[in-house]
Amino acid sequence: MSVDYLFIDESLNEYTPDKHQWRPKSGLFNVKPYKTSFPLEKIKTRSASLWRYKEALPFRKDEYFSSLTLGEGMTPLVSFNSTEPNLLMKMDYLMPTGSFKDRGAAVLIAKALELGVTSVIADSSGNAGTSIAAYCARANMNCHIYVPDSTSQKKLGQIEAHGAQIHKVSGSREAAALAAMKAVEAEHKFYASHVYNPFFYEGTKTFAFEIWEQLGFQLPDTVVLPVGNGTLLLGAFIGFKNLKEAEATDKIPKIIGVQAEGCAPIAKAIRNNLNVSAVKNKGTQAEGIAIADPARGNQVSAAVKSTGGNIVTAPEEGIDAAQKELAQRGFFVEPTTAATYAAFNKYRDSITTVDDVVVMSLCGSGLKK
Ligand SMILES: *Cc1c(COP(=O)(O)O)cnc(C)c1O
Repeated sequence: MSVDYLFIDESLNEYTPDKHQWRPKSGLFNVKPYKTSFPLEKIKTRSASLWRYKEALPFRKDEYFSSLTLGEGMTPLVSFNSTEPNLLMKMDYLMPTGSFKDRGAAVLIAKALELGVTSVIADSSGNAGTSIAAYCARANMNCHIYVPDSTSQKKLGQIEAHGAQIHKVSGSREAAALAAMKAVEAEHKFYASHVYNPFFYEGTKTFAFEIWEQLGFQLPDTVVLPVGNGTLLLGAFIGFKNLKEAEATDKIPKIIGVQAEGCAPIAKAIRNNLNVSAVKNKGTQAEGIAIADPARGNQVSAAVKSTGGNIVTAPEEGIDAAQKELAQRGFFVEPTTAATYAAFNKYRDSITTVDDVVVMSLCGSGLKK
């Protein structure tokens, strides 16, 4: 099977990716770094999707992704307005299911296909579940999504439309995750977790490759990204490192992560120079980033610090206005995404200088809510 690409735990023990093992005895799996390359002349002739960077993705054969791609990736990168040409918006809300999660889900489900998986379990409060459900439909896999019973009818409808079976769990987002893990263990199914399965991050890293290509094979000074579990942020960081190791760039942008004021465990840890620990979710409109106890929180904190970046928090009272302002410029995004812009607006003078090229991720569609 996919013995070419190994997992490692935090002590660097190696593991062959397996249908059923979703974490080591202690800690988390990561993908063991492998050689990536960026052959520009070939890349430029390929279709406009994230698969154009296939020499930097963990597949030896095209067959696993060629049958299931929905053309995800290569989303537009446009300037915010004419007076601020250096502030660029990466429009990941135009993905097939309306969020950046399609980057990770496409790669993860292609890997599941390669491993011979026929049935998957995942947990989600919305966008990840939708994305996993869509790619499972493409791959003809059974899909079970565990959600908190508070999940909006609209998001449930989107998941169901792709043929996934929904399992409503009473209580918090964490309760839904625990129920999914229990079912994975009891039923010996593949856990298509965007948090635990590191192949998901092999998909989200293509965010970095695309902005590099779209900026004329250069990276910006700063990227501004939302952080809940950190699947986009850690993916972007891996992508920047791939580009640097392949000598396609000599710099890594400063990463600014955005959390919600009412639920900001990683911001708190960085401020106090401590390890990340669970906080209480005090409630926020930015539901998509309200993760009280992020499993990879310390990885996020280390990544951000190593780029000279920081985590800032979105002012709760600024989210509605940010959503309105974005819409008035033509960008129709969900509140979680508006929070990224609200935080940037509040802190821009302390996190950037005037001439910086800044890329902000707009990664959740306003049509969803
Ligand atoms: C999932 C999601 C986030 C948060 O991503 P994490 O992986 O939890 O950091 C932010 N915005 C949108 C639109 C999302 O779907």
